[in-house]
Amino acid sequence: MRLDKLLSNMGFGTRKEVKILMKKGSVRVNEVAVKDAALHVDTVKDEVTVLGQKVVYKEFMYLMMNKPQGVLSATEDKRDQTVIDLLDEEYNIFEMFPVGRLDKDTEGFLLLTNDGKLAHNLLSPKKGVPKTYYAHIEGIVTEEDTKQFSEGVTLDDGYETKPGQLRILKSADISEIELTITEGKYHQVKRMFEAVGKQVVYLKRLSMGPLSLDETLALGSYRELTEEELQQLM
Ligand code: URA
Repeated sequence: MRLDKLLSNMGFGTRKEVKILMKKGSVRVNEVAVKDAALHVDTVKDEVTVLGQKVVYKEFMYLMMNKPQGVLSATEDKRDQTVIDLLDEEYNIFEMFPVGRLDKDTEGFLLLTNDGKLAHNLLSPKKGVPKTYYAHIEGIVTEEDTKQFSEGVTLDDGYETKPGQLRILKSADISEIELTITEGKYHQVKRMFEAVGKQVVYLKRLSMGPLSLDETLALGSYRELTEEELQQLM
């Protein structure tokens, strides 16, 4: 990759600004000051420094967020705040987007990345990546609901869902459940409960594929995935 492109991509300014840095002798490749912006560098083998600080080139970024209610899982919106608005400026260069959608009033696990291939794999209906949700349901959730979910239910538009695994945690006026599904139809969890005559009053995603929400993340905060989590995803 061209040196000026690499530095610009890593947030050191426009290509013009990067050239000025080079002219000042602030940029070194393998310990040699470089003024040629067009120099090609190997992003793995060459050591690039700016003002003595090593530049670690990253093409892709992966973040786990605990999405709060009231925020859209979109990249931009005229009226509402989006999950991208919650990110620090340092992530702007990566052009992040959310992997799939959670409703405005749903909380919990949301993966953000700029890796289109990974997003595609996680969302592909063919892969059937499991997603587990925790929910509060108005009214008593019964073993009959569990049975129906395990066979698949018919949504309001006639779509027959794949089997979902429903676990009743508490059966009461406001019941608590966990549901694992392998699809991602619009409002799927809410519509599955509607199909059995019940209403979701609180919804939180706990996990997607091999990754679970880091419960130490406060609502609205996020962190980069660890190497181990990334390995599990790939
Ligand atoms: N199902 C829903 O109904 N809403 C979500 O946000 C996610 C799954």
